[in-house]
Amino acid sequence: MADSFDAIVIGGGPGGYNAAIRLGQLGLSAACVDKRGAFGGTCLNVGCIPSKALLHASERFHEAHNDFAKLGIKAKIELDLPAMMAQKTKVVSELTKGVEFLFKKNKVEGIVGEGRILAPGKVEVKTPDGKVRSLTAKHIIIATGSDIAPLPGVTIDEKQIVSSTGALSLTSVPKKLLVVGAGVIGLELGSVWKRLGSEVHVVEFLDRVTPGIDLEVAKAFQRILTKQGMTFQLSTKVTGVEKTKTGLAVTVEAAAGGSKSTIEADVMLVCIGRRPYTDNLGLDGVGVQLDKRGRVITDKHYRSNVMGIYAVGDCREGPMLAHKAEDEAVACAELIAGKAGHVNYDAIPSVIYTFPEVAVVGKSEEDLKAEGVAYKVGKFPFTANARAKTIMATDGFVKILADAKTDKVLGCAIIGPEAGNLLAEVVLAMEFGASSEDIARTCHSHPTLSEAVRQASMGVEGWTMQM
Ligand code: FAD
Ligand code: NAD
Repeated sequence: MADSFDAIVIGGGPGGYNAAIRLGQLGLSAACVDKRGAFGGTCLNVGCIPSKALLHASERFHEAHNDFAKLGIKAKIELDLPAMMAQKTKVVSELTKGVEFLFKKNKVEGIVGEGRILAPGKVEVKTPDGKVRSLTAKHIIIATGSDIAPLPGVTIDEKQIVSSTGALSLTSVPKKLLVVGAGVIGLELGSVWKRLGSEVHVVEFLDRVTPGIDLEVAKAFQRILTKQGMTFQLSTKVTGVEKTKTGLAVTVEAAAGGSKSTIEADVMLVCIGRRPYTDNLGLDGVGVQLDKRGRVITDKHYRSNVMGIYAVGDCREGPMLAHKAEDEAVACAELIAGKAGHVNYDAIPSVIYTFPEVAVVGKSEEDLKAEGVAYKVGKFPFTANARAKTIMATDGFVKILADAKTDKVLGCAIIGPEAGNLLAEVVLAMEFGASSEDIARTCHSHPTLSEAVRQASMGVEGWTMQM
């Protein structure tokens, strides 16, 4: 085993493993160090993948209960939670093993252990057997990701008071689940447990759900989730929680302050954001600069202020998304290899995998108003889309925003069935600098949900035909 590499990547999530694989593809020797024991980072182990497995399973359960009869299918449905969890675990394990396979294929050395930067070019790894390995490399990429943001005064035990990690592994369906934070995790995992039978109440600090998402879409989203039975308490903060004989007593008060009240719950999910994770990495010692939020400061080429040390993914600025981490990883590896790596931050999609899904890219109407950009809007509801009718999924709409003068697509927000997949064509259009007319004049198969994207694009110039 060599201890000298062209590059050492610390962190084996989408930022880390993709950087190492791309370096390997480009002929550089790379090691990827992760302390978790299974590669894939937050995303594969306790994030994107297990949550999507449970979202899929719980959606089928809900569908079987609520929609099968309407389709003329009679079935007796019963929940087998341990089997559902086992399926989730199987998917996670197959995918994390897949990363090991890709490492071998691309001659990357995957090292299990905690990495610490001793000096530029020098990394020490503490392996689980208590040994220490000293590695050297010309380049070090920090890809240590993020961790749960704590709620002051609240201790997470991952059983009654859980983070997303605990909420992905509950052993029984809580009667009442209190979700703190109406962001992506709260609404995805809240949906999982709602569908499996919990009463779900969401407490949110702001006066709206999903900050950052187009407001019209966020309002429609909250209405739909309310129709599904979730309850919301906006402009409210949790100030404390006590364990009682019967469960939890959670104290809340208005965000602006005021009288307190108590909410009873069996389980409380804390999901108020994530913080960059750069603890115990030795950054102080080598002088790597962090911003106020603890993120590694880098230039456009992912270089920190210390020569030979780079950062990608959740531990640097930008949205905390797996595909953003992956794109940065590829660009950073290519730049190290002397190629022209680049990420277009104007075309990074973001998807919430609830039912219906919410998917956005580029600017929202609020962004464009704030920036004083003149824009046109095209909209199309799924109630008027033939395929949506056949699959009984007509909630939601597509909204396309284009520059008023040039017609260039500036943003898109979709709430509806398969919104995440539907958004991909708009992301590609934006990547190519396309106009709304380009989408409108592209032939779309019938009957597909994608026709709603086309009809919304036609709407920008006022010629939506199917409404
Ligand atoms: P991470 O995936 O966090 O990986 C960092 C790794 O570094 C970790 O494995 C950690 O153990 C390791 N590490 C840290 N310090 C050290 C050290 N000193 N030595 C060795 N190893 C170290 N994003 C999406 O795009 N789509 C989704 O559907 C989605 N769903 C999510 C659901 C949940 C519940 C959560 C929590 C997150 C979700 N995300 C999703 C966000 C996504 O998981 C992150 O954006 C992504 O994992 C970031 O990748 P990363 O490589 O930067 O960091
Ligand atoms: P988030 O930022 O999406 O939402 C946190 C919510 O908590 C916000 O609405 C915020 O206003 C609210 N909040 C903050 N402090 C509060 C308080 N004291 N009381 C009540 N509400 C409070 O964060 P998250 O849902 O924890 O997710 C973390 C990150 O993980 C996000 O950046 C997201 O991008 C990523 N993620 C992505 C996906 C996906 O892409 N599908 C899924 C899960 C997580």
